Amino acid sequence: MQTVVYAGPYAPKLNEYLRLRRRYWRCILTFVAIFMSGLIGGVLLDALVAPPQGIRTPFILVVVLAGAVAWVAMIWTSVRVTRWPCPRCGRRFARPKWPGNRCHHCDLSIDAD
Ligand SMILES: [Zn+2]
Repeated sequence: MQTVVYAGPYAPKLNEYLRLRRRYWRCILTFVAIFMSGLIGGVLLDALVAPPQGIRTPFILVVVLAGAVAWVAMIWTSVRVTRWPCPRCGRRFARPKWPGNRCHHCDLSIDAD
């Protein structure tokens, strides 16, 4: 399910905000998925396969690099979504820690007409 703003003078900018917010959540989920797969993969690698040292190091390297890229993307989108300017009042649309559905300054909603 995807929320899209269809009409109103602020619709293009609000849709931009919604795309950015979806990207923010995808980055968080990707980071968590990489973290969990590294954790589970590491345990399974040790328990089931009993790998030689030569397999473990590249696995850890790939997981750490992928996790680092996902973490940077998560921080970057977090900064962008929380600093996104409201199209009506020009101040920050989202709360500092939670990208919500309405501007916490002028109360413009993503459902605005
Ligand atoms: Zn506003």
